[in-house]
Amino acid sequence: MYFISTRGGKRVTGAEAIVKGIAEDGGLYVPESFPAVTAEEFEAMLGMDYPERATFILRKYLDEYEEEGLLEALRKAYGQFEGDDPAPLVRMDNGMYLLELFHGPTCAFKDMALTVLPYLLRKGCDMLGIKEEVLILVATSGDTGKAALEGFRDAEGVKIMVFYPEEGVSKMQKLQMCTQDGENVNVVAVRGNFDDCQSGVKKIFGSERCVKAFKEKGVLLSSANSINFGRLAPQICYYFSAYLDLVSSEQIKMGDKVNFCVPTGNFGNILAAYYAKCMGLPIGTLLCASNKNNVLTEFFKTGNYDAKRTFFRTMSPSMDILVSSNLERLVFEFSGRNASLTAERMASLFASGKYCVKSDELKALRQIFFANYTGEDDTVDCIYEFFMEYGYPMDTHTGVAMSVAQRYVEKLEADPMSEKHPMVVVSTASPYKFPQDVLYALTGNDVKDSFKGVKRIHLLTAMKVPDPIKAVRYKPIRFKTAVSAEKMFDEVLKFIEN
Ligand SMILES: *Cc1c(COP(=O)(O)O)cnc(C)c1O
Repeated sequence: MYFISTRGGKRVTGAEAIVKGIAEDGGLYVPESFPAVTAEEFEAMLGMDYPERATFILRKYLDEYEEEGLLEALRKAYGQFEGDDPAPLVRMDNGMYLLELFHGPTCAFKDMALTVLPYLLRKGCDMLGIKEEVLILVATSGDTGKAALEGFRDAEGVKIMVFYPEEGVSKMQKLQMCTQDGENVNVVAVRGNFDDCQSGVKKIFGSERCVKAFKEKGVLLSSANSINFGRLAPQICYYFSAYLDLVSSEQIKMGDKVNFCVPTGNFGNILAAYYAKCMGLPIGTLLCASNKNNVLTEFFKTGNYDAKRTFFRTMSPSMDILVSSNLERLVFEFSGRNASLTAERMASLFASGKYCVKSDELKALRQIFFANYTGEDDTVDCIYEFFMEYGYPMDTHTGVAMSVAQRYVEKLEADPMSEKHPMVVVSTASPYKFPQDVLYALTGNDVKDSFKGVKRIHLLTAMKVPDPIKAVRYKPIRFKTAVSAEKMFDEVLKFIEN
């Protein structure tokens, strides 16, 4: 399978797409076409465990990676998760399902891909005969950073540097990152928000001066953000696996449609669901759930993408994003894969913070996607009521999605003519990752100390505290540097020079 850029240019192999991360023209790599999964293949996957299913799906795109090595890497990656299923599906008493993706080493869904990406990258470099040191630059709204650091810690021939918004992550997220072990890692706070971090990193990728400086030092630049296809591909797999679990537990029949509701920020997770649909997974509606930063809700309503708006810091910080990078891939598909039009729109986004799609594109988008958002108070209420009724504590991001899903289902139920399908809400983080906000939602109590929050949630819910959260408490803080967005490149140079 080959990959092309959303903005044109020549095609590359999967290994190249992963190693480069982003195309030279600034576009994102997308598969040349979507591989189909046949009815026989669906049946065959029923009997497989998670790593086998994931290997099968991944090889549809990355056929130059040999099966045996890939399966072994996936077994190792998901062997680090707590429990024997890395993506368990839990049935709630309200008739919905929660797809728990937070049992990995950093307690957020980013682990589903970032435990696998190091293998895809290293193997990709080997296949391409690349000998240079690889430098991975990451912009994070909190969870990607930690998951990438953990995934690439002490990886041979790789250095990794993470930028996070100084005031834009939870205390626990910050602690997790700033106590990171490993000789090849660096973490820097940026005075600004996530969009400043992300555009700072993109600027470094796109600047001739920077690229030249890296070349001179023999360093190859890559990305662990969800702009990298190597991040997206492992995320496609859990949508298939969740569906197959519904079939094998006889909740649905093979071929029945299912809806997914995804708490969305950079549009990576929900895009993977759309890719699964393009491969033949029977998905009805994809619900795109946002918090108060509701730029995507407006886009799916009006066809206008407008990032020029007030930025809010919320208790779901991993969704505090105004420029959702992966939307470019979706817009590319719905433009009829028109690369020059996509390039034009992205140039407009860069210049004015805005672009719009045509009404027929919007109509087609709205046949598959439903978007809505939930404010802070409603998220708190949803988490509280869900716990009171079903005894299940959700994290704040999952709370946003559940609230959107509930309103959607209520509306459908009021309409006897509507088409109804089972609803899977994607649960993206452990409640212990956002202990203060979750405790507040559950009890109305504010605590300053994250670990006091963890303890009280545990007393209240009896939910097991994940080992990685316990471990953070006694680790020394290693990284304290904070810079303005303009100084990010200087920090990168300092890091690769020593
Ligand atoms: C990253 C993240 C999201 C948003 O996912 P995208 O792929 O960026 O849309 C939602 N919830 C949590 C907990 C996250 O870490």
